[in-house]
Amino acid sequence: MSAQTRVVENVPKGIYVAGEWREARGGGSFAVEDPGAGRALCDVADGQAEDAAAALDAAVGVQPDWAATPPRERGEILRRAWQLMTDRVEDLALLMTLEMGKSLAESRTEVLYAAEFLRWFSEEAVRIEGRYAANPSGGSRLLTMKQPVGPCLLITPWNFPLAMGTRKIGPAVAAGCTMVVKPAQLTPLSMLALTGLLAEAGLPPGVLNVVPSSSAGKTVGPLMSDPRLRKVSFTGSTPVGKGLMEQAAENLLRVSMELGGNAPFLVFDDADLDEAVDGAVIAKMRNNGESCVAANRFHIAGAVAEEFAARLAERLGAMKVGHGAAEGTQVGPLIDGDQRDKVAELVDDAVDRGATVLTGGSAVEGDGYFFTPTVLADVPRSARILTEEVFGPVAPITTFGSEDEALALANGTEFGLVAYVYTQDLRRALRVAESLETGMVGLNTGLVSNAAAPFGGVKASGFGREGGVEGIEEYLSTKYVAVSIG
Ligand code: NAP
Repeated sequence: MSAQTRVVENVPKGIYVAGEWREARGGGSFAVEDPGAGRALCDVADGQAEDAAAALDAAVGVQPDWAATPPRERGEILRRAWQLMTDRVEDLALLMTLEMGKSLAESRTEVLYAAEFLRWFSEEAVRIEGRYAANPSGGSRLLTMKQPVGPCLLITPWNFPLAMGTRKIGPAVAAGCTMVVKPAQLTPLSMLALTGLLAEAGLPPGVLNVVPSSSAGKTVGPLMSDPRLRKVSFTGSTPVGKGLMEQAAENLLRVSMELGGNAPFLVFDDADLDEAVDGAVIAKMRNNGESCVAANRFHIAGAVAEEFAARLAERLGAMKVGHGAAEGTQVGPLIDGDQRDKVAELVDDAVDRGATVLTGGSAVEGDGYFFTPTVLADVPRSARILTEEVFGPVAPITTFGSEDEALALANGTEFGLVAYVYTQDLRRALRVAESLETGMVGLNTGLVSNAAAPFGGVKASGFGREGGVEGIEEYLSTKYVAVSIG
């Protein structure tokens, strides 16, 4: 049996409720596809509203016991899961590549990045603290404690099938919350593998329940109005996030929203151009460009723009495109035909408006959903690609004159997830970092993701933070006790 067949066969394909794998209500299933081959890999149980309700019942049932489980025990489970993920990086990476498309090297990196959230929050589980203070007017004491929010609904996207899960599951487990997880329809297998692995690490039945489904809204929608649910944490597109916010308002749920981005990549004329090009390759090409923190548009100082564009085109043009599991592949397929068509549409729009193609510029014929790494120069400000999230391997380049103009361009978007800045001038670096309307800034680096740092956005990119010491706060409520001691 090939490694590919084995990793797919070994994944449980059911719905996970109260520690048991079940068929979906009605026995239905949906197909999961390999986007690098355009063929089905396997079928997965198609969760219905009744399955989601059973999952919430299970989460609610064990919430009190889980909240009372010693923090060290909760942390040790996460630590064991981190170890298991790390030990099984090869199989998990292959599975991820098969369902999502990214190269094996990128999948390995994601598995380890995803595991880091489990290790980080295993350490945070034992640092949930409160305060004890004197009343400023004397006579009593103010006691403040942190408690788990309660049962959570966690909804994840397809682009980072493991990391977007562990960023939520890790802090929820550490804080003492139980949960229902709805993975993306396009990539449920990695989450199902993670579920088995967390059970193996000792996570008690009912703490984590997982409902794959081909009808997200119908399946988890009813949970949003169930008063026993206390929180929703969502990573995905801004329109879906807005809809969930409306539903959350009904039930006054705690909400975390990790939404879309439109990251500017600024290169000033004093930047180290070698570093800027290296950073651009990472910020643009990580995950085939299908990342919320992908550099979406490059604003380059006029004096260095031509050289930057030529060097970036040379690097992207040399990247090897192919099936993610093939030897030497650097750029895998896009997730599906719709995504590839959208990338092509944005490139065509820019070219129609006068942009120049320096490399790439078209989809690849044949099986799978490939698009060649593309660099566009002289992109006019009216091009849609500058305002819409491209989610593909395309780098549109424009120029700026002054620092003020660079900032106006960077901030001229409804989104505010991350911005990248290349300059060697310390004063400028700090001035610009302070003025950018984003939740994160990459300063002379093209990679910001780190389990120990607070990941998240402002404006239409959402709110809430995942990772860092902030990450666990999303799953904790503050209780204040007024204490009379007199
Ligand atoms: P999406 O279409 O919004 O889907 C995200 C998740 O929400 C999926 O599990 C989806 O299920 C589910 N969903 C869709 N409609 C729903 C509804 N009415 N009720 C409940 N759940 C619903 O986004 P995507 O295309 O998977 O992901 C790409 C987007 O995610 C991009 O905009 C990207 O920038 C953003 N993203 C943001 C971050 C961040 O941290 N800020 C990280 C990664 C990605 P189905 O799969 O069944 O449709």
